Amino acid sequence: AKLNGGSNFELFYKELQPLNESRRIILENGLRKAIENDELMLYYQPQASLKTGQLTGVEALLRWHHSELGYISPGEFIPIAEETGLIIPISEWVINQACEDVKRLHVSGHTNLKIGINISGVHFSQSDFVKKVSGIIQNTNINPYNVDLELTESMIMPNAEDSIEKLVRLKRMGLKLSIDDFGTGYSSLSYLPRFPIDTLKIDQSFVRNLMSVKGDAAIIKAIITMAKTLQLDIIAEGVEDEKQLDFLKQEKCDIIQGFYLSKPIPFPELVQFLEMWNPDMLSGK
Ligand code: C2E
Ligand code: MG
Ligand code: MG
Ligand code: MG
Repeated sequence: AKLNGGSNFELFYKELQPLNESRRIILENGLRKAIENDELMLYYQPQASLKTGQLTGVEALLRWHHSELGYISPGEFIPIAEETGLIIPISEWVINQACEDVKRLHVSGHTNLKIGINISGVHFSQSDFVKKVSGIIQNTNINPYNVDLELTESMIMPNAEDSIEKLVRLKRMGLKLSIDDFGTGYSSLSYLPRFPIDTLKIDQSFVRNLMSVKGDAAIIKAIITMAKTLQLDIIAEGVEDEKQLDFLKQEKCDIIQGFYLSKPIPFPELVQFLEMWNPDMLSGK
């Protein structure tokens, strides 16, 4: 019986392995043509101020619909894009599309919203990254104030000096800069005051476990206190329910983002959402 079990397992793995291999190859080949096949799309997730109830910005989240496999999550395809270098044209497409959407928002009267764009470390580490971003801003002719680049600690830290120089140049252009998934990277607390950033986005894992994991409420409090000292804005990600909202209000968190407000939605739905939004919807909630 033992022998049988063993060979069954072997058979299972032998079949599973090539399956994963081929999915990876299919995704890699699909990614090469995703832009020209028009399979990429940006969804937007609203962010609201806890103080005023006003919407302050939206985060652009990349969606890929593969012709045969359907929806592929960014968690699956971004790493493949990064390993193959395909992330460079994809990331440029994302920045360009987000800037075009900033323009479309202006046309519909929404001139103050910031659009958060997730930046890949592979893209950020390119020597011409700042030049490329600057070129896109100029070509689309938008106000850089409306663009908020989301970076992570782990992409800034390995070459901190080089990163700081890039961040300073981006700031001089007038862009907003955020640290995404804050609290999950390795500690860069001593460097934080040297980064010319505007906002910390508290990672959603802390918000998710706010009520169940005892330490997480304390971590959020500590991050908010530190952010206030450094005069940074705070966005809490992954806010799903009223209890989390109440805690964050009480702790004077500036801005929230999460399913509680809205899931990420396509651009036309975003415009509808902006039209129907009333600040009382948050303060009254
Ligand atoms: P992220 O930047 O931290 O984005 C937040 C993720 O949390 C998004 O997942 C969003 O859909 C999800 N989310 C938002 N609110 C809630 C909530 O209340 N509950 C839960 N459970 N989840 C929530 P998504 O869209 O699957 O993106 C995953 C990650 O992929 C992003 O994490 C980001 O790191 C990366 N990504 C997405 N779009 C891009 C892009 O255009 N470029 C790059 N380089 N990375 C991207
Ligand atoms: Mg993000
Ligand atoms: Mg995040
Ligand atoms: Mg992230």
